[in-house]
Amino acid sequence: MHTPEIPPRSWLFSVPLLGRGTGQVESLASFVARVAKEHFHRPSGLLHRGLEWHAVGKPENVGRWLRGAKQLRMGWAINGHRNAEKWIEVLEAQMLTSNLQEATISSWAHLFPKLRLLRRNHCWCPECHKEGNKYDRLMWSLAPVKVCSSHKVRLVQACPSCGSHFAPLEARSRPGTCPKCEAFLSDVLPLQLQPASTYELWVAHEMERFHVAMQEANAPKAPAPIPEVLEACMSATGIRNCSELGEKLGVSRITAWYWRAGAAKPDLENYLRVARAFGLSLNDVVLGRVPTSIVSIALEPKHQIPRRRARLFQTQTVLTSIASIRSDRLSNPPSLEEVAQYVGFSPRVIRKHFPELCREISQVHIASCRVKVAARQQALRLTLKEAYLRAKQDSPRPTRKQVSDHMPKPGVMRSAKARAILQQLELTLPDKIVNNPPQLHHFDRA
Ligand SMILES: [Zn+2]
Ligand SMILES: [Zn+2]
Repeated sequence: MHTPEIPPRSWLFSVPLLGRGTGQVESLASFVARVAKEHFHRPSGLLHRGLEWHAVGKPENVGRWLRGAKQLRMGWAINGHRNAEKWIEVLEAQMLTSNLQEATISSWAHLFPKLRLLRRNHCWCPECHKEGNKYDRLMWSLAPVKVCSSHKVRLVQACPSCGSHFAPLEARSRPGTCPKCEAFLSDVLPLQLQPASTYELWVAHEMERFHVAMQEANAPKAPAPIPEVLEACMSATGIRNCSELGEKLGVSRITAWYWRAGAAKPDLENYLRVARAFGLSLNDVVLGRVPTSIVSIALEPKHQIPRRRARLFQTQTVLTSIASIRSDRLSNPPSLEEVAQYVGFSPRVIRKHFPELCREISQVHIASCRVKVAARQQALRLTLKEAYLRAKQDSPRPTRKQVSDHMPKPGVMRSAKARAILQQLELTLPDKIVNNPPQLHHFDRA
């Protein structure tokens, strides 16, 4: 008799990756958070009680908390780099799925410098979350992408409720909610949404097209040499030298020279600028496909940083200014930083000219700071003692909370120093004081 074969069982439910095959594909961070949610877990539980044990090859320990060296890391780098490859390996084995690589930039990340490829903070489009499909797009984790291509608004990166910034995957992440305060990330007022510029929209669309193209066809091992690409673009548009090239791309002449000479490689953001300026796609630039005639496009100007002019260091004038600020603030001696700001030269320059004077300024400032700190601590000690004695009247061994209730302002116990002082008081003021309460009449005035 023929016995039907039972297909192998997976350890985790099969959760589909959303937006497969499109530019709106889900990020691996969001996928892990959703998998954890489907299993009634937080990402930390799923990771440290389950997946990690599979990663280290000890599945019999699943359920116990794994301590010590971690194989898989949460945080910002989960959507790319080597960390992503480990996550994919473990997840694919435990969910019996394939091609999770699409949720990361691993297939094409090697084409660009690692710097400024992935963003460290989580960003999101509140409008996308409002539409019900609560998942984070991979495109939101790319550093050059600043806007949502569907809703044409800038991405948001601070929680609308608590204002905190957080990584794409945190221990308590859930799709569409803040891991710190659990507020909905879509609750952003329409007023706070800023419209996207033409260039930002083009970047968002271009990155989506590029990611889809890299999934359909295998990415090349290395990008076309950038000096050759730039040379071809320059001859097609009639640009003669690095100065004109820099002007065209919105970078300095020196940077343009470095790229053209092959001494430096542009990052992803600048690759996109090259593509945009010469009317190409990012894929064309990476593959080195440059047509012989190009209709170039004028880029939006970058934010202009005013250039500082070199100033003559006039010793006598500077000395006079330093003396004047020091005499003005005799009771509160300025730091070298403040002196430098007042004089208009950097601390480094001033220190180079007057090393002895600078040492004296710093010493006087530090000494005055020490005196202030000591005075503050003395005041804190007195207030704490009063509060402690008052709390002791209610209970013989008052807790920190009870002492805190008698303090003039809340939150004092949050500082380690205050807790240390309280501990000292508990040791130095023995219980017999309770039996013989001190003269507390002066507290009644408070
Ligand atoms: Zn959107
Ligand atoms: Zn929050």
